[in-house]
Amino acid sequence: MRILSGGLQHETNTFAVTPTTLADFERDSHFGPGLGDPERIRERFRGTNTIHGGYLKAAGELGFDLVPVLNLRAYPSGIVTREAFESLVSELLHRIRSALPADGILLDLHGAMVTEDYEDAEAEIVRRVREVVGDAVPVVVTLDLHANISPLLPELADIIIGFDTYPHVDMGDRGYEAVALLAQVVATTLKPCMAYRQLPLLTLPPMQCTLREPMSVFLQTLHALEARPGIVTASVAMGFPFADIDCMGVTVLAVSDGDQELAETAVDELAEQLWALKQQLQPQLVTIEEAMQESRQTDGLVIFADGSDNPGGGAPCDGTVALSALVEAGFAGAVVATLCDPEAVKLAVRAGEGAEVRLSLGAKVDDLHGDTLHVEARVLKLSDGNFVFGGAMACGLEDTMGDTALLEINGVRVVVTSVRKQCIDRNMIRVAGVELDTVSLLVLKSAVHFRADYGPYASLILDADTPGVHRPDFNGFDYQNNRSQKCYPLNLFAELS
Ligand SMILES: [Zn+2]
Repeated sequence: MRILSGGLQHETNTFAVTPTTLADFERDSHFGPGLGDPERIRERFRGTNTIHGGYLKAAGELGFDLVPVLNLRAYPSGIVTREAFESLVSELLHRIRSALPADGILLDLHGAMVTEDYEDAEAEIVRRVREVVGDAVPVVVTLDLHANISPLLPELADIIIGFDTYPHVDMGDRGYEAVALLAQVVATTLKPCMAYRQLPLLTLPPMQCTLREPMSVFLQTLHALEARPGIVTASVAMGFPFADIDCMGVTVLAVSDGDQELAETAVDELAEQLWALKQQLQPQLVTIEEAMQESRQTDGLVIFADGSDNPGGGAPCDGTVALSALVEAGFAGAVVATLCDPEAVKLAVRAGEGAEVRLSLGAKVDDLHGDTLHVEARVLKLSDGNFVFGGAMACGLEDTMGDTALLEINGVRVVVTSVRKQCIDRNMIRVAGVELDTVSLLVLKSAVHFRADYGPYASLILDADTPGVHRPDFNGFDYQNNRSQKCYPLNLFAELS
């Protein structure tokens, strides 16, 4: 059995000011020039807890010939340019055409890519792939939990499998599941019938987390449903809320073996159970001043989850609101990780370790994430920022923060990087020179993903009340699209029809 896999991933924050270009995909995919051939893709993802890592593991164990033709991503940011989308999809189609024939196709997509032309870019990718491979070849699509799924996509794909978890610690498992199900479809032992339903419900990252209630309990409901006879797989896409597009919001999907009615009943059940949780899905936010107070009264580590400036959701990661308050208070024991400011890193590198340097720091990309700080900083440590994920999420994958400087400003340490990178793994602060047991208050520009690796070490985790393009508060955004205006909580009277 010969299976081709392709991947193009982007989570698009339509409120972010920086558009996403071809150069962003080239840089963030880590293949250097040439966009990666099958062998480079195998090398990069084999043994990692990623979707393609799961594809490769399953293909090896189940004995299939898997040819990964392309797998590219750009770090979350603003709308993807037409030029980037068209050239990337052309390349994907060209590589698929060259690698045919195939018994089946796997597509490793995100589900929240928005381009200048397409609100549901994944549906357009699958539509074009279908044109190349025809209707007879099964296509299985994997999506992030943050996918915003329009009705087009389920019409084009045979099976859609979403991540169950947030933090996304089940990427490898979902990739494996995709291969296993595709193999059954190719062998005609499975006849997938997929049901799709979008709820009039919008949710925000802090409460989408499946490590805390109510979603931790709902995850058990989802797994119980998947264990029901005749049901093959089911997914809940919580949606990526920082996208002003019509299909933004929560979607449920279920696949049965040959019984459309059974799949429809399953999504109706999931929809009703999720709808009943809607009031519990609204986060409580805490200011940095309150967090300092909590930290003074708490033994052990307090984490201030500054999701409003989360680069993993398209924010610039150079916001200064929390840092500024900590510096003003001289809050020794506080660490801010990470803050992206390549210009400041260059000055720190020029000054050298141990030197004092005058810097203009942060808040340079836009005027939505605080004011630039003009400070005297001590350069504690310099590094190349290279690391390997050691936590459950993306475990084994190599990545980099670029040249990185650990600075100290009035007793507060800040990890300043050259590349935007969400600080979800303890190895990131470790290579920067911070040992976690020296930290009492840790500001992480991450909404939820940090919980997989840092969570077990925290006495208390607080969701930050800070400004930004990833602020978990619908009131901070001017949504123009029709659907979201009709959804809870923008419309408190919305009903599940
Ligand atoms: Zn996600």
